[in-house]
Amino acid sequence: MFERFISYFRRRSIPAESGLWFDAHCHVFNVEYLALEASRMLFDIIRGTYPLAWKEAPDLIGSAKGSRRGARRADPRDSARKFLAWAMELLDAGTDSEERNGEFITETGMAAFSRAEFGFVPLMMDIYYMQAGALGPANASARANGPEEATTPTMDSRWGSDLSSLRKDLAAMSTTAGDELSRLGSLLGEAHDKARKAVGIDELARALVERAEDKFRLDEEERYEGLFLTPGFKRQIKAAAALGAAFPGRAFPFFAVDPRRPGAVEAVCSGKITGKEGPFYGVKLYPRLGYHPGCAELQPLYRYCSENSVPITSHTSYKGFPDFMMDHADFGDPLYWEPIVKAYPKLRLDLAHFGARTEDPAWHETVARLIRENTNVFSDLSCYTKAEEIDFIADAYMKDGRIRSRVMFGSDFDVMYFLSPGEITLQSYYLLFLERLGAKTLQTMCATVPRKFLFG
Ligand SMILES: [Zn+2]
Repeated sequence: MFERFISYFRRRSIPAESGLWFDAHCHVFNVEYLALEASRMLFDIIRGTYPLAWKEAPDLIGSAKGSRRGARRADPRDSARKFLAWAMELLDAGTDSEERNGEFITETGMAAFSRAEFGFVPLMMDIYYMQAGALGPANASARANGPEEATTPTMDSRWGSDLSSLRKDLAAMSTTAGDELSRLGSLLGEAHDKARKAVGIDELARALVERAEDKFRLDEEERYEGLFLTPGFKRQIKAAAALGAAFPGRAFPFFAVDPRRPGAVEAVCSGKITGKEGPFYGVKLYPRLGYHPGCAELQPLYRYCSENSVPITSHTSYKGFPDFMMDHADFGDPLYWEPIVKAYPKLRLDLAHFGARTEDPAWHETVARLIRENTNVFSDLSCYTKAEEIDFIADAYMKDGRIRSRVMFGSDFDVMYFLSPGEITLQSYYLLFLERLGAKTLQTMCATVPRKFLFG
């Protein structure tokens, strides 16, 4: 039945000579990246050194907005077959190399859309500073009802007294690095117990602490021309840059900037890593991990990207990865971008996800208005895993030519697997868009608009 479903769509006509089609919003990071970076975070938290190399004194702000957990998930037992396909793909996406994930995306796009070639825009992600103090807006009047002033909870208040006793144990250990490493092993069991109590997520804590033993090197800080590198971030940079080389003319990686990571803004502004020759072709921002789009630290980045034609994609959705981190979900509000697009009208900006997944439709409305009022504001429909979500945007907004000429197609691979657990595969995602929007609209979203966004 599934095969027939595919062949039905294969018969639908798509213009042959219409340029390269893109998945304009996807990720190719795998479990190894997450394990490396998350375990490093845990280790630094336990040692009391988190966040490493974070020496600026940012405006700390509160975390009052919606600390709800993610929405309840659908029952995966609905369809054993769908679930199996989903689970196998998720496993592959999490364990395969970034290059293999890139092949999977291009092959699936070619098959689903009957294309000879398929391109993709892999977006890096930087999670290391997500537990660090948040950066607030540079100008409090950027939005009348912006986040209220408060104190960011310290790591100790988040993790409780278990953390301080664990820290004392570590402090009592031998001071030489060799001894420390060998004795660390014997403390891991205890660390696990304490971390489990503190975090309350047994499995996660065990996995992280077990990995810690293998992966940590107590070496000096690593920097590349001023850019501070944690192990997972370094690995991801290499993998993303290698993708550009492995898929010439088809993969256009975006560099993740967290303004709290020393040297990240400066790396882009140096002109050495982003540009039309790569290795990175744009910048990815993820404000919901704890930095306001209007923070002072990002202003030089906007100026540089505007003057040098470097596109920026920013997560503009209430929910996102990881779904339990909701402290700064409000930073995804597209309204915060209005002063920035007014100040930098040439800046090509993708307000990704079209303001999706909020109970309040105001975010959709804001994205639509900013597109209509500003010629360089774009959006994408990535992570739209349900027919009704696509239909809603199509009916409410895509009939407007100004919107249609600025909205891109994207999958949010491999994050999208978590949004419809047990249901969505990459091919079914691609085919769902073809079914709901038709080949003509998809031609615009996959080829015309991404080309304009990427290259101006
Ligand atoms: Zn994404």
